[in-house]
Amino acid sequence: MFSNKERFKKGYLKKLESLCGKGIEESTIRDQYHTLGNMVREYISTKWIETNELYRSENKKQVYYLSIEFLLGRLLGQNLLNLEIKEVVEEGLHDLGISLSEIEECESDPALGNGGLGRLAACFIDSLATLNLPGHGYGIRYKHGLFDQKIVDGYQVELPEQWLRHGNVWEVRKPEEAIKVFFWGRVETSYDNNALSFKHVGAQKVLAVPYDMPVIGYQVDTVNTLRLWNAEPSSLGPNQDTLSYKREIEAITDYLYPDDTHDEGKILRLKQQYFLVSSSIQSIIASFKKENQNLRELHHSVAIHINDTHPAMAVPELMRILMDIEGLTWDEAWEVTTNTLSYTNHTILSEALEKWPIYLFQPLLPRIYMIIEEINERFCAELWDHYPGEWERIEHMAIIAHGLVKMAHLAIVGSNSINGVAKIHSDILKNREMKSFYDIYPWKFNNKTNGITHRRWLLKANPELTSLITEVIGDEWKRQPEKLLDLKRHIYHPELKERFAAVKRKRKEILAKEIADKNGIIVDIDSIFDVQVKRLHAYKRQLLNVLHIMYLYNRIKEDANYSIQPRTFIFGAKASPTYYYAKKVIKLIHSLADKVNNDPRVSQVIKVIFMGNYRVSLAEDIFPAADVSEQISTASKEASGTGNMKFMMNGALTVGTLDGANIEIMEEVGRENIFTFGLTAGEVQRYEENGRYRSMEYYHHDLRIRQVVDQLTNGFFSEDEGEFESIADSLLVQNDQYFLLRDFASYIDVQERVGNAYQNRDKWLEQALINISHSGYFSSDRTIQQYADEIWKIGPVGIRI
Ligand SMILES: *Cc1c(COP(=O)(O)O)cnc(C)c1O
Repeated sequence: MFSNKERFKKGYLKKLESLCGKGIEESTIRDQYHTLGNMVREYISTKWIETNELYRSENKKQVYYLSIEFLLGRLLGQNLLNLEIKEVVEEGLHDLGISLSEIEECESDPALGNGGLGRLAACFIDSLATLNLPGHGYGIRYKHGLFDQKIVDGYQVELPEQWLRHGNVWEVRKPEEAIKVFFWGRVETSYDNNALSFKHVGAQKVLAVPYDMPVIGYQVDTVNTLRLWNAEPSSLGPNQDTLSYKREIEAITDYLYPDDTHDEGKILRLKQQYFLVSSSIQSIIASFKKENQNLRELHHSVAIHINDTHPAMAVPELMRILMDIEGLTWDEAWEVTTNTLSYTNHTILSEALEKWPIYLFQPLLPRIYMIIEEINERFCAELWDHYPGEWERIEHMAIIAHGLVKMAHLAIVGSNSINGVAKIHSDILKNREMKSFYDIYPWKFNNKTNGITHRRWLLKANPELTSLITEVIGDEWKRQPEKLLDLKRHIYHPELKERFAAVKRKRKEILAKEIADKNGIIVDIDSIFDVQVKRLHAYKRQLLNVLHIMYLYNRIKEDANYSIQPRTFIFGAKASPTYYYAKKVIKLIHSLADKVNNDPRVSQVIKVIFMGNYRVSLAEDIFPAADVSEQISTASKEASGTGNMKFMMNGALTVGTLDGANIEIMEEVGRENIFTFGLTAGEVQRYEENGRYRSMEYYHHDLRIRQVVDQLTNGFFSEDEGEFESIADSLLVQNDQYFLLRDFASYIDVQERVGNAYQNRDKWLEQALINISHSGYFSSDRTIQQYADEIWKIGPVGIRI
């Protein structure tokens, strides 16, 4: 069907007719998308079935990646690219008077995740399939993904996202594989045949219906599965036909991250977590039992990965199934469980470490809570042997303490591997945050530096750069991204530099057009595109960027002779709906943009742009156009970052702190090809321990700081002087928890160096090319190969390139 243009055209018209009952003239763009999507899904269906059969027949070990988020982005373009049928389709459609890119734009962008963590999961399943590794994603089919961001009067307004409004051509509903998940009720304990047995009675039964989506490998026949669970009322429910019962059940998969300020929302999140875990593990066991009978050998055939602590209930759930249903003893079940599970930690921010109050947990999940209690008791007894009499230490490490269940502790105790996501992050886990656990289980701890799929973030997002690279070094790098290093031999060739400059310029023009359309502002293509796009969070320090722009504004206003390399500062960020500070920073960016962009003189040299509704599809337009990548988190706080890698791969230079994967980027490209500044993680740690930091001193001693901080509350931005008072307070009254004022001077210096460096055009282009050539290390293919070899112990199945 896709073998040549003519065949495709014929097939497409036929499909359009049968699916939509229309000819090409009457068809809408949505009909056209729908038709193409269906053709692609049908085209891969044989490969999908064959992949599953191969996994069954070869009976090799498989991995299941459990994640509460999968931030997939649009799938049509990526699938065409991975199947290598994009050209045929594009040309065929062109003949029919249809533009492929317009069709692609009509696909909704499934945002079943917040940011880095969910995007990592999406990159990982792409790499698993491409490396022919038997690995599948398990997640939740939220009816509404991350909210759509609208900006009204400079404020963020959240609208419900509606990705399923027009259906989802990629999914296949599998009602025959539905699974029951039990909530509430109580546990009846009885003693028969010399053993205790446990029965969960009076439970509310929720049906988990799988929707499978194909995960298509690049240039290979492997098609893995992303299984997303949908909550539906079970026909066995006691009040099955009452509307409120139905609503209560459906609410489980209605929204990604429901508001958890109140207990009701907390219960809903707990339900989501157990719903994901229970349906996934039951389904994994059912599939294992088709080929194998002995559950004691589960870990030889199955690895289950817990992405952050949201799926940490996999530990007690697997124990429950092995004991209560499969009849294994505690010790047998524990052996299997710990050998099957592995866990990735994504953060050291204490407010992000999940802890659930027992009074919510126990009634909702009575049997699971019982098992966690038993795990905790046995673990504490083990600790007692290690540290007799050290009550305080044991209490600190316990899974249950002070009325709370600590999910990270549960995940650590119940897994065979715990990894951080960049070298420095893994070191902090071992030496500080989780040191007490490292001391007793040193063999469990390891590092897996994050990666990104270069197929989406370079091949798909930046076809212009992709062609240029391929022209220079051939196309082996597409399957072996480390071969991007071959570029290094060519970076001094003037022609390569000029052609790269032309690609960058073209991509800046594309983004500038988008900015003109959406923001109504004309930006200067020759200015530095200086970009900070990521979730809005205090530790990511968008505010530091803002304060620097305010400083530049003041300089330009005060000194008529001040000359600077023109810059366009571009922001993109969603703030969590209940995160007051973050929303204030969004408002502040807009107030600053108004001030800067409307000043006749200042706007000649700098502009400030906030691009609304930052998401994967927008990101694909932003990264290729960036000159400068802002990665300015307080050292030690950003576990890895992955945006930093996408920028680097597209030839932007990093301005960054020595944090997360920035450090490894520096090690790859060399100190001279990255702009670092600010406190180190060690310095931040010392301040945190000795409490000697006084932000007021920096405020008083640095006039530049005093001026910009005062401007937050002196009417400079708005009539309402109280608008940004809370931000000023965070810096002064609350002693600037993230050390913005401490790093301010150093940030100004490094930004000045960036401006100067950009003026040496030749050198800048070389540095950008050096960044690209070293970016292969940050492909998620490398990361996944390490997970496969060192954690999951899985190998490729049926390589047929
Ligand atoms: C890569 C990505 C992120 C993560 O960005 P960081 O800078 O690592 O925080 C968040 N959101 C989207 C849409 C992304 O593509």
